[in-house]
Amino acid sequence: MTFESFPYTRPDMPVLTQHFEQHLAGFQNAADAVAQSRQFTLLNEVRDEFSTMYNLCHIRHTSNTKDPFYEQENNYFDEQLPSFEALNNRFFRALLTSPFREALQQKFGNQLFTLAELSLKTFQPSILEDLQQENALSTEYNKIKAQAIIPFDGEAHNLSRLFAIEQSDDRSVRQRATLAKWDFYAEKAPEMERIFQDMVQLRHRMAVELGFRNFVEVGYARMRRSDYTPNMVANFRRQVRELIVPLATELYERQRRRLGLGKLKIYDEEYKFSTGNPKPIGTAEEVVAKAAQMYHELSPETDQFFQKMQQTRLMDLVNRDGKLPGGYCTYLGKFGAPFIFSNFNGTSGDIDVLTHEVGHAFQVWSSSHFPFEEYHWPTSDAAEIHSMSMEFFTWPWMQLFFGADTEKYHFMQLAGAIQFLPYGVAVDEFQHIVYENPDMTPAERNAAWRTLEQIYLPHRDYDGIQYLESGGFWQKQGHIFNSPFYYIDYALAQICAFQFWTKDRHDHEGAWQDYLRLCKAGGSQSFLGLVQLAGLRSPFDDGCVESVIGEIRRFLDSVDDTKFG
Ligand code: ZN
Repeated sequence: MTFESFPYTRPDMPVLTQHFEQHLAGFQNAADAVAQSRQFTLLNEVRDEFSTMYNLCHIRHTSNTKDPFYEQENNYFDEQLPSFEALNNRFFRALLTSPFREALQQKFGNQLFTLAELSLKTFQPSILEDLQQENALSTEYNKIKAQAIIPFDGEAHNLSRLFAIEQSDDRSVRQRATLAKWDFYAEKAPEMERIFQDMVQLRHRMAVELGFRNFVEVGYARMRRSDYTPNMVANFRRQVRELIVPLATELYERQRRRLGLGKLKIYDEEYKFSTGNPKPIGTAEEVVAKAAQMYHELSPETDQFFQKMQQTRLMDLVNRDGKLPGGYCTYLGKFGAPFIFSNFNGTSGDIDVLTHEVGHAFQVWSSSHFPFEEYHWPTSDAAEIHSMSMEFFTWPWMQLFFGADTEKYHFMQLAGAIQFLPYGVAVDEFQHIVYENPDMTPAERNAAWRTLEQIYLPHRDYDGIQYLESGGFWQKQGHIFNSPFYYIDYALAQICAFQFWTKDRHDHEGAWQDYLRLCKAGGSQSFLGLVQLAGLRSPFDDGCVESVIGEIRRFLDSVDDTKFG
């Protein structure tokens, strides 16, 4: 069976609720832990059906946002998800109060119970309507971006295609394409600011209703964080500010010199070399065929996995009109199938997808032995370790995609990872400010963002683009709208992935075994538990950021980047 033939049927909520309640009652009335486990298995079938159909709908909707059928189905899920969450929470409550809890904990591990507790913190039936509205607002924001039509040089472009033009060798083309993009955002700003204003109000109201002072704690619980706090995250951001911002700034300065520019402007940032950024060789089909060779050679596990992805057609990679921009990986539990979504546009980003999203997909495939969905994925802080580390484990094969430009690509990727970190923590700090001060006006929020840019991105030069000078840049960052507090996870995971990069260079076999162990553990432990299991150092440890950066800096300093042009 291939992806196209996976049957979609809308979950009938009254029927599903009836089945759920039947097994929930069975669970509550069970005479012992064995009988409870059996009811849990039956409940998981119901849950799996719903989640699989939700994800299937999500894939088909995002791959063509103009398809009226899946748009309608997507709206249906926006409405039904909170009710489904309500059912799950009734189960979690039953699980936590089970008289056989100890035996169940022995069997399933503690993490399921931690997750159940966190889930209860984020939900009460009284916020159901607010949650529905929150989903609808996310959909509204995504649609603005997915359906963007931006006129440029007599043609209409979507955001993904325009991004490729923004990397043009011709500086005036880059400049004009960048202006066209931000004109689009500036035009949509009132709408986006209204959506975000509504989101912040809604989220704050829900937090108060749930018994919290503001949304921050709810945001952390939604991210299922059990072993670190906002203070620890603030301390991590401080380390990034002190140790990484200077290195990132140096890297922008090296870029400016390479490009022979008087000043590096916003429209030059993505253009890394005067000889152009490395581009993957060959058509999309050829690129995928090379990826198959790479995963064949990397390990038997990745070989088997990637063959399945190809045979079952579990990748939709190429950009089309009406397709949601960006990339993601999801999982269809009922079919045991990961799915990768992206928008190939002929840039090196296409290869990033084939390593990053494949890292996610490989992890969930490796964890599919767990009998319930809570353990299929880890929390996203840990999940991004799998994806970002896969980007590094595949370094020896980049020759296949970039030929003579391989070293250039490696340099760009590593430098890019360093340059990402200050932005990543700025996005996180912004969200702390926003949700700690829910009464801010849109203009105050923009001003707060602009201040953070001056701290974390001191190199940045907007060349007088008014919308950006007044703090609008954050509005393009979908996570800020759709996934509050998600963003720091990329930064935390990056520090972990850097450790794999270092390890892999000294001891490939050892590093790979650590990685496989991490992939197979799925979500069965908390973030710091998984970090330890993988033999990594916690990014919160004082001195961790410093020790990780040392080897990266030595590598970057050892490369004579002027030869790349
Ligand atoms: Zn990812």
